[in-house]
Formats: sequence, structure tokens, C-alpha cells
Amino acid sequence: MNKCVFLDRDGVLNRDYVDYVYSANKLEILPGAADALTSLKRAGYLLIVITNQSGIAKGIYTREQMHECHQVMQKAFNHQIDHFYYAPWHPSVSESLTRKPGSLMFEKAIAKFNIDTRLSWMIGDKERDLVPAKKLGIKTIQVDNDDSRMADYRAQNLADALEVIFG
Ligand SMILES: [Mg+2]
Repeated sequence: MNKCVFLDRDGVLNRDYVDYVYSANKLEILPGAADALTSLKRAGYLLIVITNQSGIAKGIYTREQMHECHQVMQKAFNHQIDHFYYAPWHPSVSESLTRKPGSLMFEKAIAKFNIDTRLSWMIGDKERDLVPAKKLGIKTIQVDNDDSRMADYRAQNLADALEVIFG
């Protein structure tokens, strides 16, 4: 079985914009993210992004623009992301079990990549990132400034989260 670091995208790997057009030319990768992913990869972790992209359902940006962003990210991260799971839904348009805090994207990844949840981590900035991970027995690290008490650990950013994972 494999160990994995699940990653929320916006606010963890790139700067988060609320209801803003995510396009490849505006995407801002956060400092230290690329090096952090390299360290995790070297330690044997799969790297899987689990992201809500409700801007697609809301018509703010298209699925194609999102895929372009993911290509830019893969380039910046030296193609180390094993898979991007995304939920293009929003409750105002269409309900979905896929969208976080639903756990379906995690469950798909766990089955496809044969992941041992007990050896795995979820890094996210919002409580809804942590809910599905906790349900599945994945340890959680919350980055950024959301004042949730749900996380097992907290860190300033992805680079700081390595100290938690590597002890
Ligand atoms: Mg986020």
C-alpha cells in the first residue's frame, strides 16, 4: 500500500482568490510550495490534489481554464503531482457528494492508488478540507489563518507543514 499527502489547491499550492477567474496567466504559486512537494516526493509520498472548483458551475471560469492552470502547476512542480481530483459543482447550481466536505474524491483516490490512510496526510486551509480526511482516518494539517479547532496540526504554510510530517 502507498502513503499519500493529499493537498487542497487554492490557499495551499497557489494564492486563493474568492470567486475570481482562475486563469493560467494569473496563477500565483505560493513561495516554497515546489520545494516542499519535492521533499515529500523524495520521502515516498504520493501527491494528490483534491480541489473544489465551484467557479466552473458558477460560470466564472471554464473547465479548460482549470486544466490550463493544472498544467502550469505541473510545470512549476516538476510534474510531481500524481493526480488532480476536482469537483466542478456548487450547491447554488447542483448538489454533489464529490464536493468537499464530501469524501468521494478521497475515496476514489484511495481505491485507485491503493493508499493506506493511516500513513497519509491532508493539508488544507478550510474546515471543509479536513472533514472528509478525518472521516477516513487521514491525519490533518491546517495552513493559513482559518481559526478552526478541527485540525490535528496547524502550520503557517506548506513548507512549515513538512516539520509536522517529518517530525
Ligand atoms: Mg483552499
